[in-house]
Amino acid sequence: MTHRRDFFKRSAVFATVLGAPALGLAATAPAVRERTLRMYNTHTGESIRSTYWADGRFVPDAISDINKLLRDHRNNKVAPIDPTLLLLLDQISTDVKAGSVLHIISGYRSPETNQLLADTTDGVARHSLHLDGRAIDVRMPGSPLSKLRKAALHAGGGGVGYYADSQFVHLDTGRVRHW
Ligand SMILES: [Zn+2]
Repeated sequence: MTHRRDFFKRSAVFATVLGAPALGLAATAPAVRERTLRMYNTHTGESIRSTYWADGRFVPDAISDINKLLRDHRNNKVAPIDPTLLLLLDQISTDVKAGSVLHIISGYRSPETNQLLADTTDGVARHSLHLDGRAIDVRMPGSPLSKLRKAALHAGGGGVGYYADSQFVHLDTGRVRHW
C-alpha cells in the first residue's frame, strides 16, 4: 500500500521537524519516549487510550486501533489515518490541556458518506480531506473551543476550521489555511 507508506514517510519528516526546538512539543522532544492520545468517538461511544508513539517510532498496533476508532461510523469502513495528523493533534491538544480526552466528531469519511453529507449539509467539501484520512473534527470538553482554535492556528500544521455552532474544530494536514 503505497498510500500508507507515503503517510509514514511524511510523518518521519514531520517527526524530525518536531525534534527541532521550534515547535510546541519539540522543547521536550528528546526526552519524550512515548506519545499517548486519549479519544472518545461521539457517534459510536467508543473510547481509546493509545500510546501510538514509543522510542522514536510509531506503534503499528496502536495506530490500527486509532484507525478503527476514527472509521466512518455510518458504514464502518476503516482507512489509514495520516500519522502526521496524530502528531499535529497531539501537539495542539497538549498545548491546550495535556492529558485531555479528545471528543471526535468525524475522522475518516468514505466517498459514499461524503457524498451524502455534501448533498444534504452546507459547507461540506466535495473533496474533503476526511476522504484521505487527513482531517479530523474535534472538541475538548472542559477547554474553550476558542483555545483549541488558537492552538491549532499557532501550530500552523495545515487547515483549521472553526465551527462554533456545532462546537468543533476541523484540523487537517493540507495547505495551511483557516476559515
Ligand atoms: Zn472536518
